[in-house]
Amino acid sequence: MTAYAVEPPELEYLDVTGSDEKFPVRRIYCIGKNYLAHIVEMNADERDPPVIFMKPRDALVRNGGEIPYPVFTKDFHYECELVVALKSGGYNIPEREASRHVFGYAVGLDMTRRDHQARALEYGLPWEVTKAFDHSAPVGPLTKIEDIGIMNSGHVKLMVNGETRQDADISLLIWKIDEIIAKLSQQYELKPGDIIMSGTPAGVGAVEKGDVLDCQVDGLSPMQVRISGRAA
Ligand code: MN
Repeated sequence: MTAYAVEPPELEYLDVTGSDEKFPVRRIYCIGKNYLAHIVEMNADERDPPVIFMKPRDALVRNGGEIPYPVFTKDFHYECELVVALKSGGYNIPEREASRHVFGYAVGLDMTRRDHQARALEYGLPWEVTKAFDHSAPVGPLTKIEDIGIMNSGHVKLMVNGETRQDADISLLIWKIDEIIAKLSQQYELKPGDIIMSGTPAGVGAVEKGDVLDCQVDGLSPMQVRISGRAA
């Protein structure tokens, strides 16, 4: 048995609906600029291709969790997204074979320091502080593909304190799920345990301490998280 100099980090995982098994998370990939209406609301060029970034896996928050209002922002935004989880992977996966690597789907939030993102865009800075901070990746329970089928459409909705703020359909994704898996696998070797946030529709906005966020995609287990006032 390996002796470690310090306590090894805990394995991060997601719950699986209808199963006692947990889904271990290896990497969290994210796709940005993947709905036209969101590109327009961000005043970006609608011909811009989607972008790829990552969050650390220990940024995960599970259903029912609390998200501390983070330091280094005064404009903390939600982005409700369909999340896809992989049971296998590889390099250069063809689009037509992508769905055979899917374990299942969940709802997630790509929490964003929007004010920092504006500075990063202006000065050409990296996005880690914008997107990849602690507690920035709430993800709900996974629904297995065997239980819901291949998802190419479905209503996606986010409510803040019961009021609808995002309301769209995942059929409006610019890069569809198969295309996302194919394109990611051209740049990274995808592996079991990888999850991918597919991008947010329009309607992003700021949250305050005490807000309750409800995320839904048709057919998937919903997720609720709360913005807390405790120190990040
Ligand atoms: Mn996003």
